[in-house]
Amino acid sequence: MLLYNTLTRKKEKFRTLSENNVLMYVCGITPYDTTHIGHAFLYMFFDVFSRYLNYKGLNVKYVQNVTDIDDDILKRAKEEKRDWKELGQFWTERFLKDYALLNMQLPTEYVKATDTIDVIVEMVGDLLKKGFAYESGNNIYFEVNRFKNYGKLSRLNERQMTLIAKERGGDPDDPKKRSPLDFLLWQRSKEGEPSWESPWGKGRPGWHIECSAMSYKHLGAQIDIHGGGYDLTFPHHESEIAQSESFTGKSPFVQYWLHASMVLCEGEKMSKSLGNMVFVSDLLKNYSADSIRWVLLSHHYRKPWQFETIELSPADEKLTELAESLKQPSRGDLKKVEEYLDNDMDTPSALEYLERETAGAVLRKGLMLLGFQMKNSH
Ligand SMILES: [Zn+2]
Repeated sequence: MLLYNTLTRKKEKFRTLSENNVLMYVCGITPYDTTHIGHAFLYMFFDVFSRYLNYKGLNVKYVQNVTDIDDDILKRAKEEKRDWKELGQFWTERFLKDYALLNMQLPTEYVKATDTIDVIVEMVGDLLKKGFAYESGNNIYFEVNRFKNYGKLSRLNERQMTLIAKERGGDPDDPKKRSPLDFLLWQRSKEGEPSWESPWGKGRPGWHIECSAMSYKHLGAQIDIHGGGYDLTFPHHESEIAQSESFTGKSPFVQYWLHASMVLCEGEKMSKSLGNMVFVSDLLKNYSADSIRWVLLSHHYRKPWQFETIELSPADEKLTELAESLKQPSRGDLKKVEEYLDNDMDTPSALEYLERETAGAVLRKGLMLLGFQMKNSH
């Protein structure tokens, strides 16, 4: 099977670290808002990907996290005058409800950052001891210049990294840092913010160390696949590599980096401020989960695309036609489908082939493999 690895910018033959096991970590949601179609696209891809690996006889340990303590949650909780924990739980439940309604299989483990504080503290302490981190003004920072290949994943130069870090909350102008790209591992909590005990006083973790710690705790020092949205490449995943490899002394932390593209809406990235967000829960009022799945999988996971609600009606019709083909004698085979999926998960071609060339039991197997329920087809 070939997979496009963001680290090498190439399609590479997929080889697991240990024979039949796949260790996979996918960055999860920060629960302060509703699941929009961009989230659905990302997690739908990893749902089908892990189904396919299972189908190929591999044992997938799939860990997905929830970033349940983070600046964005605290900010939103303050705005809405809600308890940060209650806010996080509320949106996590809503996300999991959408997840189930879309027939996505739960990851092997669904883990919370707040359940991993002990490992985070251990890692930060170790990074300090090894000289990869420093304490300054009540905060602990990772010192990027101490890590040899910072930038190897995103392939950005220092100036580009600084600009993006600024856009994505990296605060390069923080005067407490030795260098603008250094990032927070641990921060002193402000008045009213949640805090945990640590050797450096009561505080809370930085965002990047949370994922390094959860991945290490549940999957170990080196993993096969790390996934997420393309916008996480820098600084989040770049920083995860620096922390994890400095902590474990093992490289590479991740064999294959898989990133799903962004879904645009009305020509822009979806955002609350633009008011162009499309919510899964709204779509499910008018369309079936299978139709939504069809539309999402008819776009390749690495190709940016524009979501249009009008794509859902033809998908509905197509699925009704396919329900008829399920009753016909078998035609076609899954070999072709496997060929497409083996080529960097080409789900659009797999769907086209199923639609055109197959019927009966073969079609049913193919659709099941891709996670369709075909509820109205009996
Ligand atoms: Zn993450």
